[in-house]
Amino acid sequence: MSIPFQILPSTQPKTDAERAAILANPGFGLHFTDHMVSIDWEAGQGWHDAQVRAYGPLTLDPASAVLHYAQEIFEGLKAFRHADGSIWSFRPEANGARLQRSAHRLALPELPVDTFIDSIRELVKIDAAWVPSGGESSLYLRPFMIANENFLGVRSAQKVAYYVIASPAGAYFKGGVKPVAIWLSREYSRAGRGGTGAAKCGGNYASSLLPQKEAVANGCSQVLFLDSQEGRWLEELGGMNVFLVRRDGSVITPELSGSILEGITRLSVLQLLRDRGVAVTERRIDVQEWIDGVASGDIVETFACGTAASISPIGQLKGPDFSVGSLDAPAGELTMSVRKELTDIQYGRAPDRHGWLTRLA
Ligand SMILES: *Cc1c(COP(=O)(O)O)cnc(C)c1O
Repeated sequence: MSIPFQILPSTQPKTDAERAAILANPGFGLHFTDHMVSIDWEAGQGWHDAQVRAYGPLTLDPASAVLHYAQEIFEGLKAFRHADGSIWSFRPEANGARLQRSAHRLALPELPVDTFIDSIRELVKIDAAWVPSGGESSLYLRPFMIANENFLGVRSAQKVAYYVIASPAGAYFKGGVKPVAIWLSREYSRAGRGGTGAAKCGGNYASSLLPQKEAVANGCSQVLFLDSQEGRWLEELGGMNVFLVRRDGSVITPELSGSILEGITRLSVLQLLRDRGVAVTERRIDVQEWIDGVASGDIVETFACGTAASISPIGQLKGPDFSVGSLDAPAGELTMSVRKELTDIQYGRAPDRHGWLTRLA
């Protein structure tokens, strides 16, 4: 073990009946398990005081740096229950490595990847009863790190805290996978050159909420962002990467530009497609290529991907002055077959040929 975890079981866990009621209809991000992990860091001392303890409010001083300068990063991954009852996570070492890259960009200390994996394993072990079974349900794990020094001067914090909380999640698409509509934001960007777009930090989400409201007001579920310099090249959605499937069977996705978040689902989809011999290209994609391609029939499927929804077919792309595609058309064939392949691996229904699964309990 990387560092020892002190286990302090909750004295007020939910009863079996209370938990069962929650697991019967968990929704997303609404309910939390009985415990959480916390690990402290201090300059000169490093990571220390790893604890598994009762889930509950944090006490923060009003001067805590995170509240003022948003020095915060997070991760998102899932624990899946297999048919034999065992519990597994998907590529957690990739989440751990990404948390380190995000930490570097936000001037936070890097948590060792083995400590990251131990932290989610300790939480899932003690709260194993909270991992739902059946359908596409899972336990969503949310590791995050905050600057926690009480100081209003602007510099990287000398005191930091890392936490993991867990929330049971029902199927993202209730009643079956349905294509979604996406709103093209021309006014707002998510990230710029040299910014924090490649880091998983709360600040990126804060700046996406206004365009996200605009998307919802226009009947769309998420925003598509373009590059900030030319307003022309596809980047990604607020929290998902995008892929386009062409009529000739080839697939394209925006290359990592430095301002795109490197999704682990994206990386896995690239691998699964290449395993099938599909010609996949990571390159710059002009948004006009999407709009014209759907109209001309050159682009036959589009989808978004990320941990929460796995793969989500995109039926329609809309902007203030245009709309292409239709929500009535069925989800694309390649989209749905890659989605099935990925989820079958995650739920233990297909061989894990790339060694992507790590047993947690
Ligand atoms: C987390 C995230 C994704 C998806 O990453 P996964 O590792 O596939 O879940 C994509 N874009 C943004 C902005 C994200 O924060």
